[in-house]
Amino acid sequence: PSASFTNLGETERNRLYASLKESYDAYKLRGMKLDMSRGKPCPEQLALSKGMLDLLTSSDPLQAEDGTDCLNYGGIDGIPEAKRLFSRLLGVSEQEVIIGGNASLNMMYDALARAMLHGVYGSETPWGKLPKVKFICPSPGYDRHFAICEQLGIEMIAVDMLEGGPDMDQVEKLAGEDDAIKGIWCVPKYSNPDGITYSDETVDRLASMRTKASDFTIFWDDAYTVHHLTDEPDPLKPILAACKAAGHPNRVYLFCSTSKITFPGSGVAAMASSEANVSHIRKHLSAQTIGPDKINQLRHVRFLRDIDHIEAHMKRHADIIKPKFDRVLHKLEASLGGKQIAWWNKPNGGYFISLNTLDGCATEVVRMAAEAGVTLTKAGATFPYGKDPRNRNIRIAPTFPKLEELETAIDILCLCIQMVSLTKLQGDR
Ligand code: PMP
Repeated sequence: PSASFTNLGETERNRLYASLKESYDAYKLRGMKLDMSRGKPCPEQLALSKGMLDLLTSSDPLQAEDGTDCLNYGGIDGIPEAKRLFSRLLGVSEQEVIIGGNASLNMMYDALARAMLHGVYGSETPWGKLPKVKFICPSPGYDRHFAICEQLGIEMIAVDMLEGGPDMDQVEKLAGEDDAIKGIWCVPKYSNPDGITYSDETVDRLASMRTKASDFTIFWDDAYTVHHLTDEPDPLKPILAACKAAGHPNRVYLFCSTSKITFPGSGVAAMASSEANVSHIRKHLSAQTIGPDKINQLRHVRFLRDIDHIEAHMKRHADIIKPKFDRVLHKLEASLGGKQIAWWNKPNGGYFISLNTLDGCATEVVRMAAEAGVTLTKAGATFPYGKDPRNRNIRIAPTFPKLEELETAIDILCLCIQMVSLTKLQGDR
């Protein structure tokens, strides 16, 4: 392991900076364009699902198992076989599932927009009619969740992420004291970006905590529920059952999609909740749409079949992307390990590696990396309002680039982190 940067003397520091800068300038001259900004599957991953496109032809039966003609209007909440498949994915019953369109984010936006316009099942007042609505946002988190809140005028309160999920002492205190706090965003498995899976205790505390708002709702975005990188998947306690057991059966909305199982943008999304919530939502949905795309549902169910097939399919995804995660982790360790200038997680699944620099360095690292051709997620994006209070979190998305490109991109990132850290440590003296 290398020496901590904090122990370097002035001369060593200057010499090191000069040599790092030389490498950095050489990269800049190469004029590369490498994008590690969004969690997108690579072409090899997409190829795993291309066979799905050949599964439905004009000569195939295009009826759902209850006889519904998938070529025509009919059904507001999905075909039975799709509900069955998603009920297994989300750990709920088939009666508790609503199948949506091509994207779960869309279902989340709609669910929150409906809550603002009409309230949720059991609300006394539509949230949008209240003087203030606030949401708890465990951070770092998913920037698009925060964008929904920002757009709907919902005030965001950041809460720290700990090893087993959000800091529940903070969450309980906030939710228990302020009736303007109407909900919380959660990515409970292999969280975006930290790769954290919520502990059983976290799930139980979320399900059972006292909330000042009686219609407090957990937005449980289980986007990475089958996206394991190891043979020992992180277990996640089923939240709907926990909420029921705690006497709050209507507290949670679950979401997921096949975006990173089959095709992002052309997958199938679903949500789940108590039967009371689901029938309330269905009523509102019927004003929003005549019904979702059943052809795509049929195609997906015929291709993915059941949970065992999905697990096998996800193993093939892991075979493609695990080497990329490993390479990034190896490189980070080789370049930054022991230097006390960066810390990162080693996720068991999901799409991201989350890295923290010394306080105050992330923006400059991302800017310098961009100057050398490496696009990273904007610094701060993983926090509400795009403001990382410690300006230190950087989200690395290793899945899309080719292995060689990834190596170069991480080399550049590590150079930038070291240079910015040296400058910062110099300034702190
Ligand atoms: N939730 C999380 C946590 C994500 O990282 C993403 C991005 N893949 C999404 C939702 C978006 O999912 P969808 O394509 O179903 O809208």
